[in-house]
Amino acid sequence: MRIGITGGIASGKSTVARLLAERGALVFSADEAARAVVAPGSDALAKVVELLGSSVVQADGALDRAETGRIVFADDRKRRGLERIVHPAVLKLLKAQVEAAEVDLRGSWLVAVEAPLLYEAGMKSWFDAVIVVTCSAREQVNRLMTRNGLSAPEAARRVVAQMPLDQKAAMADFVVANDGSEADLAVAVNNLWKGLLALNAGSTNQA
Ligand code: ADP
Repeated sequence: MRIGITGGIASGKSTVARLLAERGALVFSADEAARAVVAPGSDALAKVVELLGSSVVQADGALDRAETGRIVFADDRKRRGLERIVHPAVLKLLKAQVEAAEVDLRGSWLVAVEAPLLYEAGMKSWFDAVIVVTCSAREQVNRLMTRNGLSAPEAARRVVAQMPLDQKAAMADFVVANDGSEADLAVAVNNLWKGLLALNAGSTNQA
């Protein structure tokens, strides 16, 4: 079975993906794919430099993600331009990764793709089920300040620039509410795992 994991910035997507991986899911990440497609020397990186300027390239030739973030989160036009360059390449790579994993399942029944922009990028139809990890906007800001060292206004800007989380939750097959502790999240992922097992058993019975 193939599932997507999405949510808002710092809502806990990666943590949920890690907990599912610990249970044996094969997990792929759109963020990792996005890093891979702008590797030094790639076509995508050259296009990004054309759009945003050479300040986004580090001395080692890699994309400076912090500088890129600073530029595009302050400029919607540039953010959309960056997405137009990176998204098609990311989708292509992720699709190849998932299809290869499904040929070689290595004993797993679950392939998961963590994709922050799953709905925005039109990926919903790839999946048997989509999981949306939610938390309050206030919690997103707190976690962004801690994880990324952003100021409160910078963190808030990034949160409000996204599709509202309740909108994503309304489209989800499973919602994982992540407003509590990490222990609470582990319990929620246990319940999610049971739901996914049941869904998988149902689809196997119908087949
Ligand atoms: P995302 O992948 O959605 O951006 P992460 O899974 O990286 O979010 O979580 C954002 C940050 O918040 C990380 O530093 C993570 O360790 C932390 N975090 C996530 N869930 C919880 C939780 N329930 N309690 C405390 N910290 C959490």
